Amino acid sequence: MSALNSASFIQDSEVPFHVANLDDLHQKHIRWLRTLPRVKPFYAVKCNSTPAVIRMLSTLGTGFDCASKGEIELVLSLGVTPEKIIFAHTTKPQSHIKYASTRGVDMMTFDCEEELLKISACHTRAKLVLRIAVDDSKSAIKLSQKFGTKPSVVKKLLERCKELDLEVIGVSFHVGSGCTDSLAYRQAIEDARHVFDTAVLLGFQMKLLDIGGGFPGNEGFQIQFDEFSKVINEALDEFFPADSGVQVIAEPGRYYVDSAFTLAVNVFAKKVVMDDNDRVMMYYISDGVFGSLNSTCFGEKRYRSIIWGPTCDSLDRVTATYWMPEVQVGDWLLIDNMGAYTVCCSSDFNFFDKADIYPVLSRILHEIFTASNLYPLDPLHYFMCPPQMLGPMNLSCLPPLMSAPEQCTH
Ligand code: PLP
Repeated sequence: MSALNSASFIQDSEVPFHVANLDDLHQKHIRWLRTLPRVKPFYAVKCNSTPAVIRMLSTLGTGFDCASKGEIELVLSLGVTPEKIIFAHTTKPQSHIKYASTRGVDMMTFDCEEELLKISACHTRAKLVLRIAVDDSKSAIKLSQKFGTKPSVVKKLLERCKELDLEVIGVSFHVGSGCTDSLAYRQAIEDARHVFDTAVLLGFQMKLLDIGGGFPGNEGFQIQFDEFSKVINEALDEFFPADSGVQVIAEPGRYYVDSAFTLAVNVFAKKVVMDDNDRVMMYYISDGVFGSLNSTCFGEKRYRSIIWGPTCDSLDRVTATYWMPEVQVGDWLLIDNMGAYTVCCSSDFNFFDKADIYPVLSRILHEIFTASNLYPLDPLHYFMCPPQMLGPMNLSCLPPLMSAPEQCTH
């Protein structure tokens, strides 16, 4: 986190805002293609559904993991075609399955018999992907308790698919979000191999392996990502060699968006309180736990500071102790790595403004995309420079900004 004094902003505004660096998405994608060449990414829309993000990734050629009717609607409305979507939620409301059927979204996950019955009633063309529970003990957010079939019931479930005349095309798993152990992927890929073998024996034509999400995406992600990729590539070569004809996809969320978003929040109130003989700063900022800062903690030293979100709820404490230089009312704090599970989880509790989002694109990328007719964004879809930043402000997170401010539609 860093601080900017109020003079850096020529506009008199307190509304928090994100700058979404679309160049960062592009760089992440290039790295993905180089490092995991066999794995096609299907971006997990749940992680951050900002339209400029979806448009950019669609242009770059990713597919999309959608978890609901609303996410499918959004992605289709932005020009994505149905075969580039996997409906990757194992427990879906029936109306959402019907919607997927009418829109030609056929690929979907399941993990229990009850889901099969719904699918067989509403979407007979579905191409099913069996999600298995895998070891997620080394991940920040565990998913296998809620989702995924246990190995002991895999065969019975696949037999039920046969009885219902449903087509199963593959296996998926998720090692948990914020995974810290590359070996979790290796074990899960091996587990998936066993399920493939069982399904092939039952007569299914298995052609898809979906290795889920869990990849790091904040700044400094590279070392861990490269380590994960090495282990994944080796495990794929061992258990699903290229000549097996199996298509491998993944559902990265955090990987693509975390470092691309930087949040600017306004310090709109301040109190200095004494704790023993220490001056402790209490800051009240224009976004908080009920907004983009629902999953944030900080780390660096100066004055002990307590940072509160804007709402009347005392739960809205962004951090209880953060050591930072003193700032003043009117100053702004910049918080980076704010792309994953932030804007999508915001509420408008107390009617405080939600953070605006200003997607920005560097001139060079803009020119490359425009020249090759690639980029579906017209300038109205992204900012060349957010209005608050017309002053002498230097955000190291940003690409070189275009000089003219533009309208933002997001
Ligand atoms: N796929 C599924 C089914 C998920 O539930 C999630 C996150 O919860 C993701 C993909 C994205 O995970 P991550 O952001 O860790 O890449």
